Amino acid sequence: MNRDIATPIRTKEILEKHGFSFKKSLGQNFLIDPNILRNIVSHAGLTDKTGVIEIGPGIGALTEHLARTAKKVVAFEIDGRLLPVLEDTLSPYDNVTIINQDVLEADLNQVIEEQFSGFDDIVVVANLPYYVTTPIIMKFLLGKVPIRGMVIMMQKEVADRITASPSTKAYGSLSIAVQYYMDAEVAMIVPKTVFIPQPNVESAVLNLTKKAGPPVEVKDEDFLFKVARGSFVQRRKTLLNNLQSSLPDGKAKKEQILEAFERIGMDPGRRGETLSIEEFGELSNALYADFKNL
Ligand code: SAM
Repeated sequence: MNRDIATPIRTKEILEKHGFSFKKSLGQNFLIDPNILRNIVSHAGLTDKTGVIEIGPGIGALTEHLARTAKKVVAFEIDGRLLPVLEDTLSPYDNVTIINQDVLEADLNQVIEEQFSGFDDIVVVANLPYYVTTPIIMKFLLGKVPIRGMVIMMQKEVADRITASPSTKAYGSLSIAVQYYMDAEVAMIVPKTVFIPQPNVESAVLNLTKKAGPPVEVKDEDFLFKVARGSFVQRRKTLLNNLQSSLPDGKAKKEQILEAFERIGMDPGRRGETLSIEEFGELSNALYADFKNL
């Protein structure tokens, strides 16, 4: 087996050899602890039939661990300066493809068709660039990208929001949007000390597994998420107040909003944070006919 990239000494050697300097604006915090990497990979359930999508390989610390176990790894890296580095560090692996592109600009379904045709097990494994954590997750979920799940490192605060239950401080529209598609659990908490440079915040690895079906049948998923977002605009306000402000013509259409609550037997004086996803589904279905042009 090759010498791990993710040790402090080897990482330093690689950075010096290639004269690489970190770009903070790209969320470049590289892992330098092989134990953490093994732990991340162990949560991904990889086999020699699995295709892996990685976002932000950096100098390849996680990539090589993925390449050792999976059938194929396709990694999106936005920073062109890392291409020669990766070519060097990942030269022992012939099952890695690097795509030099902003993952947010990528046509993921097309990439999957081109790179993973015939694969029926595809997972995302990544130490995400923290400045775009949420857009990246939502791109995979809303784009209906055919993945089994995601094992992803992010700021602990975002992991807490994603996994939060109703009636907790962290619960909000992000919890609802992700939990609508995925079962979500924190796999481990990761200290700042295993990165170079160290980030300002604590991290967590989240294990997201695609649900067999949605937790509630809705008329329109987009509308559900809009109602959820609108219900949390001011957390201390009631649903009625928040929806009057966030629905189009909400103030003028107070009666229609109240009727929708009445139809489903829900108290409009409740706060958004007390509603389960199923209840948000019911509420959005009841509001849909009058407000679908939201
Ligand atoms: N995987 C490496 C590791 O764990 O050591 C590096 C992780 S580092 C937190 C994030 C990586 O994502 C960096 O290499 C950065 O250049 C890359 N990156 C940042 N924004 C990106 C984007 N929009 N699309 C693709 N890669 C991006």
